[in-house]
Amino acid sequence: MVTNTDVKELGHFIKGEIVAGSSGKFSDVFNPSSGAVIARVPIATKEEVQNAIETAKAAFPAWRDLSVGKRAEIVMKFRQLMTARIDELIDIICLESGKTVDDAKGEITRGLESVDLAINAPHLLKGEYSVNVGGNINAYSAKVPLGVVAAISPFNFPVMVPLAMTSMAVAVGNSVILKPSERVPCSALFFSELWKEAGLPDGVWTVINGDKDAVNELLENPTVEAISFVGSTPVADYIFATGSKYGKRVTALGGGKNNMIVMPDADLEQVANAFLGAAYGAASQRCMAISTVIPVGEETANNLVKVLADKISKLKVGPYTDPDVDFGPVITKQSKDAIIGFIDRSLEEGATLVCDGRNPDVAKISNGFYLGPTLLDNVKPGMEVYEQEVFGPARNVVRVDTLEEAIELVNAHELGNGVTIFTNNGAAARKFTTEIDVGMVGVNVPIPIPVGYHNFAGWKRSRFGEGHMFGPDHVRFFTKTKTVSEKWFEENSESVSTFAFPSN
Ligand code: NAD
Repeated sequence: MVTNTDVKELGHFIKGEIVAGSSGKFSDVFNPSSGAVIARVPIATKEEVQNAIETAKAAFPAWRDLSVGKRAEIVMKFRQLMTARIDELIDIICLESGKTVDDAKGEITRGLESVDLAINAPHLLKGEYSVNVGGNINAYSAKVPLGVVAAISPFNFPVMVPLAMTSMAVAVGNSVILKPSERVPCSALFFSELWKEAGLPDGVWTVINGDKDAVNELLENPTVEAISFVGSTPVADYIFATGSKYGKRVTALGGGKNNMIVMPDADLEQVANAFLGAAYGAASQRCMAISTVIPVGEETANNLVKVLADKISKLKVGPYTDPDVDFGPVITKQSKDAIIGFIDRSLEEGATLVCDGRNPDVAKISNGFYLGPTLLDNVKPGMEVYEQEVFGPARNVVRVDTLEEAIELVNAHELGNGVTIFTNNGAAARKFTTEIDVGMVGVNVPIPIPVGYHNFAGWKRSRFGEGHMFGPDHVRFFTKTKTVSEKWFEENSESVSTFAFPSN
């Protein structure tokens, strides 16, 4: 485990090396498990971002022109290096995000799925070809890289989300600039060195650290062709609107408010076990975390709340250095205070407290940003805690009488990232999967995150723009199609001039 508590001054990763920031402005990076500052991350100026973009632009032609097989080889080497140094990376994730060791390992494993897909770029880039479309002309369509593309990532997955956003972009031949969350910059800087070691030419991979000013330069700079964003809904909305205004291709994934519908026939023991991890894992700081459980029928609700109350009371919150801990702290003191505010106001609005996590034991002996698991019952649509994404371990029970009512409720919410149903009734599951208005749907699967070779994205205000994160859609997002019509004249063949519009 990393125990060094010295405050490190971080840099950017430009042209194959870590370079110090020149702005003189820094943001503190915390160890959320202890509350201590572990590093200071530089906040890039507009000029620093511009220079990084120019470096990426200069590296692009040679990277584009390298054979796709060679590019895939470098991505494969990167994967091998990351696997070989997984323990170091786990330490860094745990230190800067507060995740448990198992959770950090899971995050890296899922991130590597995107790398695996990117290794398949030679296959995925195969185009279309037609022979003799007219007058000895052959036509083909090729997917070619865009140029310089940028990714802006959130704090809650310091490795998985950046890998999901960028691996394919690199493999298909783009120069990529990552702007990680200023809360968790250490992981991205660590794996940047692995790209270098894997043989990626300098300038193809850049990490620029900073805040909204750095993001604004990426959005406005004409050299940047595409923006891939993952973060909260208000920022995703802004990124999509601004990036689109500046003529860029944008996919912006936002927040989630994910529901678990529980039918009367479901096995409540199974449901409760599935709920615990999906709802409270990573201190509920996952875009696909279950925030609301919707039991169908009064009896289901009463029984489920009883089972949940018992199981939740046994969960353990604490630092990642304790192997028995179920989940760690939230990311900042501000985040902790905001979540407590949500709980307090929900009680004023009529919710009832089943489990109160506002002041867990560990918070009494540590300056870490700890919250225990809170479960609120009798939550209703219209309450703030139901309508807004609460990015921390305060979860809701909303009671309904029928499946129709549950589906209507989920469909009426402005967010549509993930949803799941627990039932043994195939007809109910089929009705649910057909009628539900959400992008990622589970049946007896608590966190229905698609595997790396399927498309990932929510609907409604959980995603702005077209295109998905990883999956086949990612190849389309990071390439443009060039269609070539090609004819070769034989020696002395006659050429005629025609003024009619060409047809076959
Ligand atoms: P955030 O929106 O605060 O920050 C995301 C990124 O945007 C960071 O790099 C940040 O520096 C930058 N940013 C923040 N404010 C900005 C502004 N005003 N202008 C320009 N850039 C800005 O999100 P977060 O708190 O880091 O992450 C948690 C959020 O991300 C949650 O809402 C969660 O649901 C969401 N998320 C969504 C997915 C998904 O796949 N849909 C995945 C992970 C996280």
